[in-house]
Amino acid sequence: MQALMMNTQLMISSILKHGERNYPTQEIVSVTADNPRHRYTYKDFATRSRQLANALANLGAKFGDRIGTMAWNDYRHMELYYGISGSGMVCHMINPKLFPEQINYIINHAEDRFLFVDVLVVPLLEALKDHISKVEGIVVLTSKEMMPETSLPSVHCYEELISKESDEFSWPDFDENTASSMCYTSGTTGNPKGVVYSHRSTLLHAYAGSLPDITNASCHETCMPIVPMFHVNAWGVPYAGIMVGSKLVLPGPKMADGETLQDLIASENVTFSSGVPTIWMALLDYLDQSGKSVDSLKVVTTGGAACPRGIIERFKQKHGAMVMQGWGMTEMSPLGTFFSLKPGMQDYTEEQVTELQCKQGRAVFGVDIKIVDEDNNELPWDGVAFGALKVRGPWIATGYYGLSQEPGSDDCPVDSDGWLNTGDVAVITPEGYMQITDRTKDVIKTGGEWVSSIDIENAAASHADIAEAAAIGRYHPKWTERPLLIVVMQPGKTLSSEEIIAYMSESLHKWSVPDDVVFVDELPHTATGKLNKLALREKFKDYQFPGVA
Ligand code: AMP
Repeated sequence: MQALMMNTQLMISSILKHGERNYPTQEIVSVTADNPRHRYTYKDFATRSRQLANALANLGAKFGDRIGTMAWNDYRHMELYYGISGSGMVCHMINPKLFPEQINYIINHAEDRFLFVDVLVVPLLEALKDHISKVEGIVVLTSKEMMPETSLPSVHCYEELISKESDEFSWPDFDENTASSMCYTSGTTGNPKGVVYSHRSTLLHAYAGSLPDITNASCHETCMPIVPMFHVNAWGVPYAGIMVGSKLVLPGPKMADGETLQDLIASENVTFSSGVPTIWMALLDYLDQSGKSVDSLKVVTTGGAACPRGIIERFKQKHGAMVMQGWGMTEMSPLGTFFSLKPGMQDYTEEQVTELQCKQGRAVFGVDIKIVDEDNNELPWDGVAFGALKVRGPWIATGYYGLSQEPGSDDCPVDSDGWLNTGDVAVITPEGYMQITDRTKDVIKTGGEWVSSIDIENAAASHADIAEAAAIGRYHPKWTERPLLIVVMQPGKTLSSEEIIAYMSESLHKWSVPDDVVFVDELPHTATGKLNKLALREKFKDYQFPGVA
């Protein structure tokens, strides 16, 4: 028997229409290269998004075309999110911090017809222009007065382009499974791979992300997504925020600047903010140095990399803000798990709560998670067994753009049983709290034991004199591999290898304590700020432990 319910398609444009009708005066505040504090309302936002849709049509862009964006978090990028996807085109967010050859590859692979770029990105594109000759036009996201001199061909000024257009536009309805946006993952090996989101996956993800035990998003909150809009849709905040009517504060190119972030939080009354651990570290250090506060901030969400305990404790003890850790990946839109307490945990001590905050959270409804052993047998949620983490759900990729969609094939991340292999190794407690112990490729195998490189790095980084640490497995004739620790010291601090090893022996199993410590000035990172273990393994490929032949 068929249900008797309307089969209304889930459209990104419906979020915009809902936001404009219900919260016309709600504000979006932005920092841009041409304005340190731009503010306008949802009504203005919707009006300009319709002008943009008309401008895209007049440029000749068609349904299904890929339109690239290279921009920070600001109101013009918001308009692109809605104007492009709402028109049935694909908003392709490109990370300007990738290597130029990766950017060049991504633009050509996606066959972007037009690029909408921040002023700050223009020099980068000038250097690439001979390699991206198929791009038909480049629109610089600024006003006529601020347009830079440029050697780029077919250049338009965004404000001039949209100001000529009518603000009447009727958003089309079409199949909710149509591609709405895409984002390339910047793995550390091979070419970047394109993940393609749909209107349906985006809306379901936004609903799930707003639930009370997830972000509890609402029109009473002021939300500042610091995680970039060029990286997995800023974790969905640009959609969920408008859906619920939150005031949005967008830090633009100043996202790593503690002073600007503090100023925005204090003056705009930001209650909720999302970002990666390195951003939080920069903000906390600035607050310590300046003696300033962030009193309005209640919830800090973190993801993208394991959150050091120190960040959780400093926010809680010094600033009264709760750190909520989430885990996910580009292939997952990105939300997979998120921190929240369960009934019966109200009486937990601060220490017990902090322990849970250090884990990556519980599965969000919509995402099934499981851990499996090397033979793909499911492992128990007992807090001890750890194995490869697999996921499935309606906002999880079935494959990569232009590569095989055949489950189980080499280029497809989905197994023949329909689960996406995340490449992460995890343990899950009986209460459902998941903890990432490693990337599959980074696990150190020593004498038959699996050792988590993340545990070793956390143990080292908990020393106040150590700024950053990485652990990799290196060949050992007896144990196959032993951990080597690579360390960056805090400025002006010194420790010997022996002192570090003695310190780590206090908290790690004997077999997890590194055999040697190497000191470097800095560690290599990927464009999304993760430790580049591949580069480290390459750099130390001829390394031999002292006294070992
Ligand atoms: P990306 O697709 O660039 O967002 O990277 C996804 C990967 O980042 C995941 O597979 C994890 O390895 C890592 N990751 C994301 N969130 C966390 C987290 N909270 N803790 C540890 N690792 C994380």
